[in-house]
Amino acid sequence: MQPTALRPDTAAVHAGRGDLRTLGVHVPPVDLSTTNPLPDVEIGGESYEALATGGTPFDGGSHVYQRLWNPTTARFEEALAELEGCAEAVAFSSGMAAITACVLAARAEGKGHVVAVRPLYGGTDHLLATGLLGTEVTWAQPDRIAEALRPDTGLVVVETPANPTLELVDLAAVAERCGDVPLLVDNTFATPVLQQPARHGATLVVHSATKYLGGHGDVLAGVVATNAEWARRLRPVRALTGGILHPLAGYLLHRGLQTLPLRIRHQSASAHKLAARLAEHPAVERAFYPGLPECDPAGLIGRQMSGPGAVISLAVRGGYRAAAATAAGCQLITHAVSLGGVDTLIQHPAALTHRPVAAEAKPNASILRVSVGLEDVEDLYEDLDQAMRQA
Ligand SMILES: *Cc1c(COP(=O)(O)O)cnc(C)c1O
Repeated sequence: MQPTALRPDTAAVHAGRGDLRTLGVHVPPVDLSTTNPLPDVEIGGESYEALATGGTPFDGGSHVYQRLWNPTTARFEEALAELEGCAEAVAFSSGMAAITACVLAARAEGKGHVVAVRPLYGGTDHLLATGLLGTEVTWAQPDRIAEALRPDTGLVVVETPANPTLELVDLAAVAERCGDVPLLVDNTFATPVLQQPARHGATLVVHSATKYLGGHGDVLAGVVATNAEWARRLRPVRALTGGILHPLAGYLLHRGLQTLPLRIRHQSASAHKLAARLAEHPAVERAFYPGLPECDPAGLIGRQMSGPGAVISLAVRGGYRAAAATAAGCQLITHAVSLGGVDTLIQHPAALTHRPVAAEAKPNASILRVSVGLEDVEDLYEDLDQAMRQA
């Protein structure tokens, strides 16, 4: 739609909006139609066939039915694909629906084995560990991926920065060990502003769009940025399993992308200051943050990520009891699950997000995870300081 590739900050504002001037509007129209008129039976049938098999709408065709195609959601998909440096993107009703679709699409080709690197988001770990989708998982260290591959391996799954220890995985090195097997990277914590996994060899770049992409804690959504071939395989899974995004959510996500670079850079800078100060706090045993030198031994900040992000984890002195009391004692910061919004949240991973994770892979009970928002760093520090002191 745009004549040349726009720089990322400009793309965030303008991508998926190339036709607005022609339409005579300044913001994207919201199309809420669940069904769409068919020009005639013949074209209606051809439109259905094209969309149900993973294709995109053709000139003179119909969008048929909202489960097959929605123009408002398609604008968000186009914009996110551009930011990730991918050909296409497919949006879903949640991050878990997006991950489910990737696993099912691989399984549909007879590849029911998944190789995964821990730590992962608790829900992803649980989905793979239970084999709910009929898959079998092999957990591997990043340097043992090649040995774990089998002829029926359909996906390699990694997350970086990982949840909740914020360990970084070298994506280019991992992609090389995957050979022909598609690499799925959960890019929720980094966002395309800080890291574009497709540039390092990922085939599938997954987001819980609920987090930074939406950015305001009011949209539940997921998205996969990928190549045209995989997008064609994911869309029928979405149409058949019904994990589609509501167009109003698509609209809000598309709007959220416009401020994404600004939000991420500001939140990341605040998190960096906060992590450096908290690492020295007497109540903190250890701070986990990719911007602290000891947390990035491979030097991936600068090479793979342009900045360390806005999530910090803290191991507090006094174990579970001190961690629980700290979370409960925060007054400005909300004790709640999720991350990536404009306001700061704190949560206890072992008790909450990582509760279903197997004992050997569960985070330490002294760890708290803080998603740093847009508030003044001083206010955030003071709130955490008072909460830790009274804990
Ligand atoms: C929240 C989250 C998910 C799941 O996304 P939902 O939108 O809650 O379904 C997956 N991966 C990561 C890293 C997350 O933080």
